[in-house]
Amino acid sequence: MRSWNKFRTSIEMNKTEFNINKIIRENVKGLKPYSSARDEYVSDGSEMIFLDANENPFENGVNRYPDPQQRSLKKVLADQKGVSAQNILLGNGSDEVLDLLFRAFCEPKVDNIITLPPTYGMYKVLANINNIREKEVLLTKNFEPNVFEIIEAIDAATKIIFLCSPNNPTGNSFSEENIIKVLQSFEGLVVIDEAYVDFSSKESWINKIDLYPNLIITQTLSKAYGMAGIRLGLCYASEEIISVLNKIKPPYNVNELTQKRALDRVMDVATIKGEVTSILEEREKMITSLEDVSFIKEIYKTDANFVLVRVDDANRRYDELLKEGIVIRNRTTQPLCENTLRFTVGTKKENEKLVEVLKLL
Ligand SMILES: *Cc1c(COP(=O)(O)O)cnc(C)c1O
Repeated sequence: MRSWNKFRTSIEMNKTEFNINKIIRENVKGLKPYSSARDEYVSDGSEMIFLDANENPFENGVNRYPDPQQRSLKKVLADQKGVSAQNILLGNGSDEVLDLLFRAFCEPKVDNIITLPPTYGMYKVLANINNIREKEVLLTKNFEPNVFEIIEAIDAATKIIFLCSPNNPTGNSFSEENIIKVLQSFEGLVVIDEAYVDFSSKESWINKIDLYPNLIITQTLSKAYGMAGIRLGLCYASEEIISVLNKIKPPYNVNELTQKRALDRVMDVATIKGEVTSILEEREKMITSLEDVSFIKEIYKTDANFVLVRVDDANRRYDELLKEGIVIRNRTTQPLCENTLRFTVGTKKENEKLVEVLKLL
């Protein structure tokens, strides 16, 4: 009863007593970041002779160090998302962005984080690498955050709660109400991993970063943007949070080739929209076809570019598909996911082949 009151009080008081100095690691607080040659002198575009960074002077497109602050790319992203460049941090994939969060805010062997399985496996891996205890609060049966139990699990050493929405591997977006409850009842950081948000009918939480000072959004170019190979992860948060992450990031963490390819791609809005539309059409076709597969017991609602289904025997069906040359993801060992398989939506041809093979098994 006591904790239920704690829960109600925190919601009613609408308290977000977020104080970054209470959650930042002591060693990071006092840190002076490495000042690279490209940090010390920022080109204003005029013709200069660069003899400051011991680079090879013969031009080949990548002989110079990349911009440590990725200014051109951030400018376009800031315009598109309606935030300032100071609200953005870019990394070598979301994986690096998430790792920076651990290293900035979580004291090894002391602090803990909360994840909501079944979910993306990297939160746990990164917690283990950084020697941070991971507390797990299972999603409810309909794959929503169990807000009451999350609040129960929070203690003085809890620094971050990871919400993956749309969630991998279940595919659903979490209800706005549940997300707000978590944001309002926790004084640490709430990360919403929006890797699949471009496939979702729900809006991004990016434009809420002014409303919730403890909110961090991560996105990626690996899914809807079709650039998994260049490794670009994005983080949106208050200037205060971003400036802490900037202190600890490796100076040249986003290489020149990635910055160039990403810039071309994010400016090509029409192509990305077209591909997402086509993937969504294919997803709906796939769902309809899967309804006719006799051993598929349940098809879960999805807001992402994959479909989670429950089958009679996931291990058996996974092996059978492999034999036919189709690789999918078997999620049967994940909590609440017994006998589930995850299908990524591919091209029309690939999806038709998947369905054809499934119907013959
Ligand atoms: C695929 C995925 C990512 C992307 O990670 P990158 O390192 O940016 O490729 C992030 N979060 C979730 C939940 C994902 O499924």
